[in-house]
Amino acid sequence: MKTLTTTLLIIGGGPAGYVAGIRAAQLGVPTILVEGDRLGGTCLNIGCIPSKALIHAADEFEKARHWANHSPLGIQVPAATIDIARTVKWKDGIVQRLTGGVATLLKRAGAQVIEGWATLLDGKTVEVRTVQDVLRIQCQHLVIATGSVQTELPTLPFGGPVISSTEALAPASLPKRLVVVGAGYIGLELGIAYRKLGCEVAVVEMTDRVLPTYDEELTRPVLAALKKLGIVLHLRCSVEGLNGGGSALRVRSSTADEFTLPADQVLVAAGRRPRTTGFGLESLHLDMAGRAIKIDEQCRTSMRDVWAIGDVSGEPMLAHRGMAQGETVAEIIAGHRRKFAPAAIPAICFTDPEVVVAGLSPAQAEEAGLDCLHAAFPFTANGRAMTLESTDGFVRAVARRDNHLIVGWQAVGRAVSELAAAFGQSIEMGARLEDVAGTIHAHPTLGEAVQEAAMRALGQAVHI
Ligand code: FAD
Ligand code: NAD
Repeated sequence: MKTLTTTLLIIGGGPAGYVAGIRAAQLGVPTILVEGDRLGGTCLNIGCIPSKALIHAADEFEKARHWANHSPLGIQVPAATIDIARTVKWKDGIVQRLTGGVATLLKRAGAQVIEGWATLLDGKTVEVRTVQDVLRIQCQHLVIATGSVQTELPTLPFGGPVISSTEALAPASLPKRLVVVGAGYIGLELGIAYRKLGCEVAVVEMTDRVLPTYDEELTRPVLAALKKLGIVLHLRCSVEGLNGGGSALRVRSSTADEFTLPADQVLVAAGRRPRTTGFGLESLHLDMAGRAIKIDEQCRTSMRDVWAIGDVSGEPMLAHRGMAQGETVAEIIAGHRRKFAPAAIPAICFTDPEVVVAGLSPAQAEEAGLDCLHAAFPFTANGRAMTLESTDGFVRAVARRDNHLIVGWQAVGRAVSELAAAFGQSIEMGARLEDVAGTIHAHPTLGEAVQEAAMRALGQAVHI
């Protein structure tokens, strides 16, 4: 058996693993990255990028249909239709460009990529099964970046009409009736997209509200938009399985009534879990934090020189967290003094309207024992929002009462995802309300609502 030796071995070429690989190689660390499926991982191939592409296509299609129905803007177009096969091809093109770019960046930096499935033998030895043969790789540092997998419900195993986000992102044709299980990130992002593409959509959620991880005030405009779009919600409901013919989903309500929802397809979006099985991880006997690998603030596991980054190391399972961890670990291995201790990791839900959070909500600040003030500025008072025909939503600032240090931002509204940069920067740089309030924000922009929220928290609002 051929044996290779390297300083750093990374298992997994998703955002966490590939960023670690590029950065380490840039810093001169001999690096091998093993990927068993496709470089770019979940995010580039079957997650962030394809979902945002499909959402964009659905938005454009909906806009065209809106114009065809006598738009107040005076635009007229003939009735719109969509060729979903072409949409998928366009989306695949973006994915290919990005994954090809990752391969080029790794190569340019000097990292070696091996296509194959890795099995851990111990903390320094990994066996890789490639198409041609089986290799053994010896390393000084092992980085586990194996990502996460979708949760399968025992009552609704994947197959036939029961699909995961992966299949939903590559439809051969559009179902007439789609039932979505789970009103979280994937369920709502894709549920809204499918509705805009013309499907009848129902959503079944076991808790009593949509996007239960966000605060209720923030999700209220999303709830209103779902109703306006004609998406039917079934909250506090559990799923019992498909009916005998496989043409409907059996659902049980909180009052124990059972009913069926006709469905051509059922999209199960009930969460993801760290990928910790199927590659010999058990043999390392690492300390775990629930289902994730336990790590410290340098992403070290309980075994010396074994590191874990990205989704496999737990929540929040977001691409940008994994990338930041990858960069940190690469720099530590290269001898830099680094730790992974962000002041905030922004999160965005690409629903319509979008939701973005960074840092603490008012309730989270209170739970943390902080005495905070908070204020919101509504988009109804923002000129740019009016010109975009979208005044639902607001920006909210949360800051300490004593010194006005900003500890959190939340926003809901059209295109607010782009505010994540301003939110993250102000928290990471230790900005106070006065810093944001005193910064000239260009007019007319949605960003003015950020400045106005800070001004309002200081009792100095001008435009409301
Ligand atoms: P992954 O991207 O899962 O990559 C892990 C890689 O490891 C995979 O390529 C896998 O093949 C490989 N691998 C695993 N085990 C082995 C082994 N034994 N040998 C060889 N290779 C192995 N996050 C956001 O921040 N924003 C979004 O908008 C967003 N949208 C999403 C939409 C969807 C539909 C989904 C499913 C997820 C979305 N996410 C989003 C989450 C995001 O995709 C993940 O947080 C991110 O991909 C995690 O990166 P990772 O590198 O930890 O793992
Ligand atoms: P999620 O945790 O966001 O939502 C799952 C939802 O399903 C929850 O509301 C939960 O209450 C519900 N649920 C769970 N079991 C159920 C059942 N048996 N019946 C009915 N409802 C049930 O999970 P997701 O939407 O699958 O997304 C997985 C992860 O992927 C996210 O947590 C996030 O880390 C990542 N992601 C991020 C983005 C983004 O950043 N924009 C987008 C998509 C996915």
